[in-house]
Amino acid sequence: MKIAIVGFGAAAIGLLEKLKESSHEIHVFEKSKDVYSSSISGIRADGKLFVSTEMGGDIFIDPMLQKKLVDYYINFTDNKLVETGKSFGNHHYYKLFYEKGFLPISSDFYHIGTDQLKEVLFNIYNDFSSHPNIHFHFNYEVIDIDEEKNGAKINGDGLFDIAIITVGRSGHKLVNRMMSKFPKLVLDNTRVDMGIRFELPNHVVDEINKEMYEFKVKYRSKTGYMVRTFCNNPSGFVVTENYGDFLTVNGHAKMLEKSNNTNFAILTSLKFTEPFNDPIGYGSYIAKLSNLLAGEDKVILQTYSHFKESRRTKNLYRVLPTLDPKSFILGDVNLVFPRRIIESIIDFVENLDKVIPGVANNDNLVYAPEIKFYSNRLNNKSMQHIKFAGDCSGATRSIIYATAHGYLIGEAILTNQFSNAEL
Ligand SMILES: Cc1cc2nc3c(=O)[nH]c(=O)nc-3n(C[C@H](O)[C@H](O)[C@H](O)COP(=O)(O)OP(=O)(O)OC[C@H]3O[C@@H](n4cnc5c(N)ncnc54)[C@H](O)[C@@H]3O)c2cc1C
Repeated sequence: MKIAIVGFGAAAIGLLEKLKESSHEIHVFEKSKDVYSSSISGIRADGKLFVSTEMGGDIFIDPMLQKKLVDYYINFTDNKLVETGKSFGNHHYYKLFYEKGFLPISSDFYHIGTDQLKEVLFNIYNDFSSHPNIHFHFNYEVIDIDEEKNGAKINGDGLFDIAIITVGRSGHKLVNRMMSKFPKLVLDNTRVDMGIRFELPNHVVDEINKEMYEFKVKYRSKTGYMVRTFCNNPSGFVVTENYGDFLTVNGHAKMLEKSNNTNFAILTSLKFTEPFNDPIGYGSYIAKLSNLLAGEDKVILQTYSHFKESRRTKNLYRVLPTLDPKSFILGDVNLVFPRRIIESIIDFVENLDKVIPGVANNDNLVYAPEIKFYSNRLNNKSMQHIKFAGDCSGATRSIIYATAHGYLIGEAILTNQFSNAEL
């Protein structure tokens, strides 16, 4: 078969790994200039790999397959160096959080680090390139895909027997186009997670960082919203994330360079009800509003006490930001988020302080906006020759789940189950 894969990210890696030894002719279309390009693939930043059935996506991925894929990535680092641990393997911590109303999320994790990820991606690319049936086309943005009677056409040209779209979140333009052409594709679009990136000195969270590196907990706040931690970065750095027409915050950690602070996201989960069906629009407007207040290319930074009291921060005290000073303005996040989100976050931090004293210190730092968009959940059964894999399908939200999704679709191709695959 002649197969098109659109995008070269985690899901494409899973697909290619499964198909590389086959006799299928595979063409990979990637919009980035080359494999060194900083925009290529979501596996460019941080590289925390999780084995968990409680997070990472909305499909079941066998933990054995997850671990196999974790080992696959680690094997492509030059020196096989990773930080590793278990979240809530220790029952003492599980009970401590549970007692205060938190729902602890269990997982095993392996942290490769931003610095090593580049070589991992490059080594994987080299491996695939050595297979004569795999052809890479960089600098090739796919704008449109048509389903024909006997295959799929890419950009109105060249017919492929099947096409797998693995464009991640950054491929939303192509996915939106496909959704408006084929409305039956859309199963669900109601969620967005919005909140802040929180930063505090390492010593406040030292014990928990040593115990599990990544602590993930959920909490039903007094407002009724579910609030959760996400992406904990011991000795990490806060960075901005550019979505093209707006800027948000994010965090990451490196294997070698370390800071004195830990950062993690605190996110409230918003689920809208009918007739509203544009959570991405809602999140984008809030991000743009915060950018309007902060000024171009900046996010808002505030101390936790001022965040609670709704006062603009003018000076910082003991905790110094790891975000580049050119990228933030001291301000008031209350001018951006609706009250229910702010109250949910405060309720979360005050209760977390009962488990980890010092989390609610006045001078800890709040950055905004941090937003996690959920791709629309797409119906992979609605088309015969075209399927979506990874984050753009709405079924996954992590490197390992996206890779596994691609891998399983690859398996369906090898067993002639592609057209009926429910994945
Ligand atoms: C800053 C950041 C940090 C993250 N850290 C982690 C982490 O530590 N651990 C974790 O598990 N997950 C992390 N994630 C999430 C993770 O990166 C994604 O879940 C995962 O990469 C999804 O894989 P994917 O293949 O679906 O998409 P991606 O890996 O994003 O790959 C999509 C590819 O498609 C290309 N593309 C897009 N549109 C087109 C088009 N029209 N034509 C051609 N090519 C196109 C893109 O350039 C990209 O290379 C992070 C995400 C971000 C943004």
